[in-house]
Amino acid sequence: MSSSSSRSATPPPHRDPAPARLRVRVEGVVQGVGFRPFVHGLAQRLALAGHVGNDVHGVFIEVEGARAALDEFLRALHQDAPPLATVDTVEARPCPVLGAPGFAIVASEPRGHRATLVSADTATCAACLTELADPADRRYGYPFINCTDCGPRFTIVRDVPYDRPHTTMAPFPMCTACAAEYHDPTDRRFHAQPVCCPDCGPRLALAGVDDRGDPLATAAELLRGGGVLAVKGLGGYHLAALASDEKATLTLRTRKHRENKPFAVLAADLSEARRLAHVGPVEAALLTSRTRSSHSAQDKLGGASG
Ligand SMILES: [Zn+2]
Ligand SMILES: [Zn+2]
Repeated sequence: MSSSSSRSATPPPHRDPAPARLRVRVEGVVQGVGFRPFVHGLAQRLALAGHVGNDVHGVFIEVEGARAALDEFLRALHQDAPPLATVDTVEARPCPVLGAPGFAIVASEPRGHRATLVSADTATCAACLTELADPADRRYGYPFINCTDCGPRFTIVRDVPYDRPHTTMAPFPMCTACAAEYHDPTDRRFHAQPVCCPDCGPRLALAGVDDRGDPLATAAELLRGGGVLAVKGLGGYHLAALASDEKATLTLRTRKHRENKPFAVLAADLSEARRLAHVGPVEAALLTSRTRSSHSAQDKLGGASG
């Protein structure tokens, strides 16, 4: 981490009434992680004016206000950054005071040599999982639920700066309700680029079978009946079969030419995983991390499963 910002002691306000303005550059994993909403909230809390935007290098900011507030702003950029962000550098330089009020998220600057880092895809967060399971929520059971803290990033990006028109979400214009969340600084989906719902976002579809009902229920039915499914996820396809169905897994092994190597086993949650395999504290931490990494564990029959 490096910073060219000055960290002078906060002067008493009456001796330092003149506002200052800083031009700030932040680089690292700062796109697709809620960084602009974070900066917006921070500036509002500190009564700073200015703007924030994405460009091909990362995030550009101009902030104006009391010097003590600017010092606090620079400190918070490093230390209070959103959980998915990795701040590599913050560079701040003084620039002329403009005196214009308000703080805005401005249009991205798409020009220049592309050098910024976009966050990896991140597992559905606890708040989204709660909504997903709530029959009263408008995203109840909606598989593409996401927010500023979770959801697809890297696999939907086609170009930087990371903005919806540069993602595979471009053909799904937001409905009124989603747009209201996207534009509301107090909403946890403020400026979440992939925000969507059953009314405006992608939908599940089941190909290759006569599917007139719920694709998810039909897919589950097919798996229970010994079928092998190709599940198109965010980053590619998963071939799926019922792990307890020897005939189905043998079919999958034959087709994949994978006679012995273990397959990954999907479990609904940690308690389910513990029923199938020995899950210690390290395995548990990995399985529930933001990336929901798959992990090798000794199964309860003595073999290894992924
Ligand atoms: Zn979320
Ligand atoms: Zn919507």
